[in-house]
Amino acid sequence: MTVQKTIKFRLTVWYLVVIAVLLIGFGGVAYVLLSKNLYRNLDASLRARSEEIQKSIKFEGGTFLFDQKVDELVLIYNADRELKQRLGPNVEFETIGETVKQALFGNASFVSAETVEGPYVRLYAAPFNVDTATRIAIVVGRVPNEILSMLAIFRMVILNSAVLLLFLAGVGGWFMAGRTLKPVERIADIARGIGEGDLSRRIDVETDDELGRLASTLNGMIGRLEEAFVKQQRFVADASHELRTPLAVMQAETSLALEKPRSQEEYRGALELVSQEVGYMSEIVGKLLVLARTDSGNELLNVQEVDVAGLLTELSQDVEALAQEKGLHLSFGPMDGLTVSGDRVRLRQLFLNILDNAVRYSPAGGTISGSVVRKDALAVVTIGDTGIGIAEEQLPFIFDRFYRVDRVRTDGEGGTGLGLSIAASIAKMHGGAIEVESQVGEGTTFRILLPLAGPPRKPPTTILPNP
Ligand code: ADP
Repeated sequence: MTVQKTIKFRLTVWYLVVIAVLLIGFGGVAYVLLSKNLYRNLDASLRARSEEIQKSIKFEGGTFLFDQKVDELVLIYNADRELKQRLGPNVEFETIGETVKQALFGNASFVSAETVEGPYVRLYAAPFNVDTATRIAIVVGRVPNEILSMLAIFRMVILNSAVLLLFLAGVGGWFMAGRTLKPVERIADIARGIGEGDLSRRIDVETDDELGRLASTLNGMIGRLEEAFVKQQRFVADASHELRTPLAVMQAETSLALEKPRSQEEYRGALELVSQEVGYMSEIVGKLLVLARTDSGNELLNVQEVDVAGLLTELSQDVEALAQEKGLHLSFGPMDGLTVSGDRVRLRQLFLNILDNAVRYSPAGGTISGSVVRKDALAVVTIGDTGIGIAEEQLPFIFDRFYRVDRVRTDGEGGTGLGLSIAASIAKMHGGAIEVESQVGEGTTFRILLPLAGPPRKPPTTILPNP
């Protein structure tokens, strides 16, 4: 990265530009004000001098006599605009004709005029009535040397201090920008150093400003990545473990069967066991496939308007036989006619997983209830049971993959620990969520919240066409 591209450089340049503009602005205004003020004073003294001359002037012997001062320029013009008398250096002005004319008309005015020889002179031309019939113009002039040198000094001071100020501002700005941006470099260094393996590292910038917030945002992101990474690792480990067990069972069973010649019944028994394990494995693999698809976002949803109450009623009929077999009672209602936009097959799978659990974890004599009601813009599907319940400390984990509250308790029932995580994924794909409440020994209630079909909502990111 070249220096010109760094924020530090750009910040410093901007800083300098702003300061330069301010300096030019203030310096210019101060210069103009000072110069105006000095000229105003000069003009006032010229006018005062002109009045003095007017008071003392006398016309005697064809010339005007007045109280004269050394080093001054006084020009007296007659009514015909002819220079009648001069006091001071013999200089000629090219541009004061109009001013003299105005004075002879009775209007006093100032003019800055250049002499033919060079120096620039400030002049005041005033009318003077010698008698009722004769008016002359008295022009008093002064070379504003003092003003010019004062303004030159002022310009030099302003210019020198501007250069010094800009230099100091540049150095200071560079240093300050560097200091302010130091944490950014630190953040970049640490972020560069964080690899897949050490997601436990965090950025230790703890300032209470935008950079501190950036660091904590990045830390939050790394934290989520770490969590996802650990989850993924655990998932792979769990999946391998889950698949290893039936494989080990099959291997042991087949080795035993092959050890010596067996009777037909014995072979049949061994094959039945193998078939059962294969069935279990293919169930797990099938469910893993669903989860992998929903995770990757490649699951193609066949979105349509789904009547939730209709779907739940249909499912209740499906599980009725199973429930009766276990001595369970089904009680469904109220069933509001609500429509959601979603994939009917997936939603069916969601409800079935939860209904299946309700049947599985409820002892004989229990009741399984279901209802569909509207809450704001949501369809709330409630599926409850009066089963064994789930301890409070287990509740946060039941949607985790392969999580079973009690493996011994449920292994016999053949649960894979994937049913609820699939249900949660499907709900998420539909922009919904699942809530659960449970009391050990009393039962469990699942509430599935799904956005109602209606005006277009943000589509779940998972609805993507299969490549
Ligand atoms: P499984 O296939 O083992 O049922 P799930 O993901 O569907 O896996 O459920 C996770 C765990 O949550 C289950 O092992 C079970 O212990 C508990 N669970 C789920 N639903 C219920 C319920 N209705 N009553 C009691 N426990 C339940």
